Amino acid sequence: MNKPNMHYAELKDSYLFYNISQKIKAYLEQNPGTHLYRMGIGDVSRPLCEEVIKALHGAVDDQAGAETFHGYMPEQGAPFLRETIAKHYASRGVKLESDEVFVSSGASDELGDILDLFDRENSALVIEPAYPAYVDANVIAGRKIVHLPAGRKNGFLPSPSEDAVADIIYICSPNNPTGAVFNKVQLKEWVDFANKNGSVILFDAAYEAFIEDDTLPRSIFEIEGARTCAIEICSLSKTAGFTGTRLGYTVIPKDLVREGLRFNDMWVRNRTTKTNGVSYIIQRGGAAVFTDEGRRQIMENIRYYKNNAKILTDALDELGIWYTGGKNAPYVWMECPKGLKSWELFDILLTKAQVVGTPGEGFGACGEGYFRFSSFGSREDTVEAAERIKKLFG
Ligand code: PLP
Repeated sequence: MNKPNMHYAELKDSYLFYNISQKIKAYLEQNPGTHLYRMGIGDVSRPLCEEVIKALHGAVDDQAGAETFHGYMPEQGAPFLRETIAKHYASRGVKLESDEVFVSSGASDELGDILDLFDRENSALVIEPAYPAYVDANVIAGRKIVHLPAGRKNGFLPSPSEDAVADIIYICSPNNPTGAVFNKVQLKEWVDFANKNGSVILFDAAYEAFIEDDTLPRSIFEIEGARTCAIEICSLSKTAGFTGTRLGYTVIPKDLVREGLRFNDMWVRNRTTKTNGVSYIIQRGGAAVFTDEGRRQIMENIRYYKNNAKILTDALDELGIWYTGGKNAPYVWMECPKGLKSWELFDILLTKAQVVGTPGEGFGACGEGYFRFSSFGSREDTVEAAERIKKLFG
């Protein structure tokens, strides 16, 4: 008799986005035709940049010619893209070999798959509030989760603690949902802690491109000692609008070794067993992101979102409301005004200002009393939402 993975029964239902959509549906049924200012979305709204589109078209044409056609791609990624990404890191002072870079079809896939490298007896530390996939992927694998709550006192950037030691450590910086970014000193504490305890850090750098303060680390490999304790998972989803196109990359240094096993070799073995590579066409599109012109064009979109974030944070500054994020991240994480709970604020914003955000409680218990706005919407909606928030709480 087949026995399913019973750990699925332990997963908490994710009510967050379902509840939000139900509340919106009910509101629109009572108020048909009302325009909502949607500041809750985690998806991008700007199209792919011209350089990427050009490269995608070129790659489609390649597939039409016998001489230029590509079949299966190498499982670890096309050499042209692995080299391009390694050069991109080098331009920021991080030395990588191109075979330390693995091309993926996105960070979500990779965050789940990478757990194949770890024993099921390993424990996983999650700094909360957190992107829900970290907890869920480990619950499915039956791992023990160590929760490390963050809060306003540490700016949602907690230091490691000997009371919260685990074999796998998730760090997301710039953070979703809080928009907070670890500085080099803070990140060094985590690297030293991981090396001391033999832990491995899974560093989620999905929002690195939003960092504009050059003193802040965009990669964990800017920190001395990270090559022996970290894996970096990155994505072009928010960097270059690839949410629907799908491309990411993972860096596994050859110096990351536990019990005599090299994680880089293990991942080669894993990829060659479990994938047949990422589409040639998409990898060509991805490579265009790293050209000078591609870089310039994607930064225009990022600036557009960052200006949206500034419109929101200017409004909160005017109101004297505490928040993190926005400056080096696409998310703004605010304290709910007037001591409101996060779902209470959701209801008030929806019904009194027609503004939709994301209640912090949905990202873990310590998100209660906080609220997330995203800057991925349109400029017009963001401007109007900020005005409405000011009117409501001014
Ligand atoms: N990591 C974080 C922190 C995210 O917020 C997201 C998407 O919202 C992802 C990973 C997933 O990115 P991808 O689209 O590459 O799967």
